[in-house]
Amino acid sequence: MTSFETGSLEEEAIDELDIAPADGWNALYLDGEWVPAGDRDGIDVENPATRRTLTSVPSATEADVDEAFAIAKSAQEDWAERPPQERAAVVSRVRDLVGEYADDLETLFAVECGGVELKAAFETELTQGTMEVGAGLAMRDGGRRTESVTPGKENLLVREPAGVVGVITPWNFPLYLTSRVVAPAIALGNSVVLKPDENTPLTGGLVLASLFEEAGLPDGVLNVVPGYGDEIGDHFSAHPTPSVMSFTGSSEVGRRVGQRAVGQFTEPALELGGNNAHVVLSDADLERAVDAGAFGSFTHQGQECISINRHLVHESLYDEYVAALAERAEELPIGDPREEGVLVGPVVNESQRDKIVGLIEETVEAGATVEVGATVEAGGDHDGLFVEPTVLSGVTNDMPIAANEHFGPVAPVIPFETDEEAVELANDTEYGLSGSVHSADVSRARDVADAMETGMVHINDQPLNDEPHVAFGGVGASGMGRYNDEWILDTLTTLKWISVQREPREYPY
Ligand code: NAD
Repeated sequence: MTSFETGSLEEEAIDELDIAPADGWNALYLDGEWVPAGDRDGIDVENPATRRTLTSVPSATEADVDEAFAIAKSAQEDWAERPPQERAAVVSRVRDLVGEYADDLETLFAVECGGVELKAAFETELTQGTMEVGAGLAMRDGGRRTESVTPGKENLLVREPAGVVGVITPWNFPLYLTSRVVAPAIALGNSVVLKPDENTPLTGGLVLASLFEEAGLPDGVLNVVPGYGDEIGDHFSAHPTPSVMSFTGSSEVGRRVGQRAVGQFTEPALELGGNNAHVVLSDADLERAVDAGAFGSFTHQGQECISINRHLVHESLYDEYVAALAERAEELPIGDPREEGVLVGPVVNESQRDKIVGLIEETVEAGATVEVGATVEAGGDHDGLFVEPTVLSGVTNDMPIAANEHFGPVAPVIPFETDEEAVELANDTEYGLSGSVHSADVSRARDVADAMETGMVHINDQPLNDEPHVAFGGVGASGMGRYNDEWILDTLTTLKWISVQREPREYPY
């Protein structure tokens, strides 16, 4: 089924949704106030399915960033002194509000991000999960007492909040990727300045401000400055105030943000790009591997850091795998995410579309074959952003679609002869985020998983997995540090060694 009835559904007046602030979204959120745009430039929020402008938000200036960090700094200590159960209760209340506003959120995920109903459900569930785990951290300060080599001394390791946390996030799972830092940061007694992506300033930022405000978060603990990365990003990432700079986005920008943060002795936490391989060994169950391959490639139009970027398939299964995957791709209903039953929506913007299409074209020029897809549907009377689910065969690891993170609904399929070659191909990338291996023999799959240089690998599944209580992160150009549960606790707190010399100590002189 293909449905390009874009615009056939009324777009909600998104400034009038129940979740919206009283005067609409055109404001910064500073010190608990919705600060009107004034004479700042605006950022248009566009529905990628219809290309209609839905609303506008202010484009924050460097002075706004300075003000936000100053507010966050002055609010942090009081917040950290609140009892942990009070901090946890605010985050838990936000989790409940996410459920209460699920319909508004589904609308926003569709019209701001191009997310279909299924994606909205995933994102809502993940957001609630990370808030539940994050709230729990308030009670798990993790300090401890240790032995001392000095007679009569007691060693205590005391955990304290890091302080002010700067947060920069992308557009693909904006509410979740923002919440997985903001929720634990706030529960642990930090304050936050958040810069959402310019494509998704609502679900990536202002929505969260609205929810935390309703949940009773004290003024100044969360501040949101929507803005263009290339205008305020450098000022934000090299700001002297924050103790932690959390960045989720591309490796290119992440490297720059990390370097600038370190220049201020601010700890960077970087969750970056991926070039994830879905490895199908010779003894794999073909149907399971294809089901997993379709889900891992086409969910949310392939716009996840942990999507499948390359399918590596044993030569004995190759033709059958390509044919079955192409059949699955062709069946996927494409259209306006608000149409019932649609599974593939638009990609987020023109530059992403052009990048994906350009990589497909260059790969075909290099000798690959389009089995299905590769066309862009206009979606009505506008320049469309619907890239059809695409399967490419005859691909080699060095062709552009495989060598780069394409971030689109594209499945390049690459043949291999031996397990060793599969590992070599999988690892032939600067990234190391996620991956998957299919085999009837779990210990054989384990050997391959062990040899894959990634932060995460899933056996007899696909790479697109995230559980809020399990360590998430990559190696190499995919990032530094781990998110979720106790692993982000280390990032968002600092350990202080306090020793008590209980008996007089004998010094050498
Ligand atoms: P991007 O790096 O272009 O943008 C991400 C954020 O960085 C946005 O908020 C943007 O405004 C900001 N930014 C841009 N220039 C900046 C600068 N000079 N200084 C500071 N901030 C700046 O990434 P994108 O295209 O929005 O997102 C897609 C990328 O994110 C992909 O590479 C994807 O793999 C990655 N990603 C990683 C994870 C993960 O958990 N590892 C999750 C989602 C997305």
